[in-house]
Amino acid sequence: MTSSEKKCVVYPGSFDPLTYGHVDLVERALEVFDEVIVAVARNFDKRSLFTFEERVEMLGEVLGEMEGVTIDDFDCLTVEYAKQKGAVAIVRGLRAVADFEYELQMALTNRKLSPEIETIFLMPSESYSFLSSTLVKEIASYGGDLSSFVPPPVERRLREKCKR
Ligand code: ADP
Repeated sequence: MTSSEKKCVVYPGSFDPLTYGHVDLVERALEVFDEVIVAVARNFDKRSLFTFEERVEMLGEVLGEMEGVTIDDFDCLTVEYAKQKGAVAIVRGLRAVADFEYELQMALTNRKLSPEIETIFLMPSESYSFLSSTLVKEIASYGGDLSSFVPPPVERRLREKCKR
C-alpha cells in the first residue's frame, strides 16, 4: 500500500443500541484510520430490542456528521464484508477480561477465513469499560437515568420502546 492510500477499517457489531462506549471506540479508531465504517450485522442470531433499521438510523443520528465515518449494514461474513469495502482491518472493543475469550475466538476464526484482514482491539476510556448495550436496556426497562450511558437520540428511542 502506498502512503497516499486511505486506510479503512470496519467496526462491526449489533449496536442494540449504540452506547457512549461504542462512540468512544469510533473516536479512537479515527485516530488510527482514515475511514471507519460502522456496520450493523444483520445476521446475528440474537434477539434484539431494536430492528436493524432502527439501529442503523440511530448510528446515523449520532455518528452521521462525524468526518471519516460511514454507517452501513451487512448480511455476510464480517471478513467478506471488510474485503468488499477495501478495509484492511476489523476493529473490536475489549472492555474487561470477560470479553477476551469470545473476541479471541472470533479474531482467530476470522484470521483463518481471511488472513489478510487483521483484527485490531481498542480499549475504551475507563469510564465506559463497564458499559454494555445489555446493561443500558436493563436500566431503561426500569426507567433509570440513561444520560451518561447513551447519546440523547438513543435515550429518546429507548424511552419510547420501554413505554410500549
Ligand atoms: P456484538 O454483538 O458484535 O458483540 P456489540 O454492539 O455488543 O455487538 O459490540 C460491538 C463491539 O463493540 C464489540 O467488540 C464490543 O466488545 C464493543 N463494545 C461494546 N460496548 C463497549 C464499550 N462500552 N466499550 C468498548 N467497546 C465496547
